[in-house]
Amino acid sequence: MKGPIQNRAQRHGLSRREFLWLTSATSAGMLAGCAVNPVTGQRQLMLMSEGQEIEADRQYAPHQFSSDLGVAQDAGLNRYLSDVGEKLTTVSHRTEMPYSFRAVNAVYVNAYAFPGGSIATTRGILLAIENEAELAALLGHEIGHVTARHTAERMSKAMLLNVAVGLGSMLVSQKSETAGLVTAGVGMIGSTLLLAKYSRDDERQADALGMEYMVKAGYTPEGMVGLMNVLRSLSSHSPGAIEMMFASHPMSEERYQTAVNRVNTVYGDNKSLPEGRERYMDHTAGLRRIRTAIEAMQKGQEAMARKKYADAESLFTQALTEAPDDYAGLVMMAHLQIAMDKPKAGEGFAEKARQVYPDEAQAHHIGGIAKLVQKKYAAAFERFDAYERILPGDPNPIFLKGYSQEGMQHRPEAAREYTRYLQNVDQGQQADHARQRLTEWGYIQQETPATTR
Ligand SMILES: [Zn+2]
Repeated sequence: MKGPIQNRAQRHGLSRREFLWLTSATSAGMLAGCAVNPVTGQRQLMLMSEGQEIEADRQYAPHQFSSDLGVAQDAGLNRYLSDVGEKLTTVSHRTEMPYSFRAVNAVYVNAYAFPGGSIATTRGILLAIENEAELAALLGHEIGHVTARHTAERMSKAMLLNVAVGLGSMLVSQKSETAGLVTAGVGMIGSTLLLAKYSRDDERQADALGMEYMVKAGYTPEGMVGLMNVLRSLSSHSPGAIEMMFASHPMSEERYQTAVNRVNTVYGDNKSLPEGRERYMDHTAGLRRIRTAIEAMQKGQEAMARKKYADAESLFTQALTEAPDDYAGLVMMAHLQIAMDKPKAGEGFAEKARQVYPDEAQAHHIGGIAKLVQKKYAAAFERFDAYERILPGDPNPIFLKGYSQEGMQHRPEAAREYTRYLQNVDQGQQADHARQRLTEWGYIQQETPATTR
């Protein structure tokens, strides 16, 4: 029995819906007694050890950085972020963590921290803030999530309550040989849980810690108020661009008011500390030079999300006219072309993106999809194979390699990839497809989940 996907794919090529699930980002996921919180000294529900926090970070952060279109290729900018970040971590409650700071190519407004201390800011937010004190507030807030162990605590609660979708089944289906709770498989949970929404209490605490660290590091506390103002004004005139930031870090009037009050009370004597505007402008000059291109990409991405493809296309064209070698612009344009049923054009943009940034996975990914849609299965396989080499542990290329092998009628090879995929992921459309094929081909007995675990 052939599945509807295969039938339709054979007749018409891939439909848009199929394209969507083939390209759906399966990036980054993770897992994770009581422990004493390094910040408060109070006991805290904690099922993750510090070693597990670092291991989860090491495994999953690279996938999130890639889904944000890779670390920005501006070494000076990354060095600058590291310098500012280091000033803050040395005065933090957890100086021993392996912190790192980087800009990622994504243009939407966001910043995030993984539990081991890998912290990223998008180009979008770096373009929005205007001085080093605001940057210190942003990084200080993220460091606060690490020092107060918010992610690890949330994971521990989820494990205890077994409320997180997939978490229970992941523990049941865990095949990892590591003694701990961190699994070898990626993708069961998704970065959505690792980077899931912090509670209001977490946000309050991260704001307070961020302010404490930035002042100790010598920045005016006004930077926190400035940062909150930037976020507030963005959310009123460009809500789409900032959605992700607020999805993980809920913003409220209360957060702003608290920052204002603290500047005038606790930190009243520190207001005259420097804001470092010129230093910030100097180090982000490369971004500012292509400001209008980045803004066009932001608008294009929002238009694409609303399925206004023609608008998105003219905005991306405008962006690429100004910044023809921009990796993010090229990858987004490739996505758009495929969504507009122009896979040949998509392939061209993906190819250019690959030349611009050969070590970044997404150009290989979208290039492979463009080829797959055109039924160039062997060439697609090559791209997905490169994608997997660059980002080992991401199950998505494994599935796509299986799908390409299936397209070439290489049944044993396809079965091997699908089997490998199911060792990492056991639910979702891709898993269903893999299981269905393996069942049809006689590699597994039944479709009931119990026999495949
Ligand atoms: Zn936050």
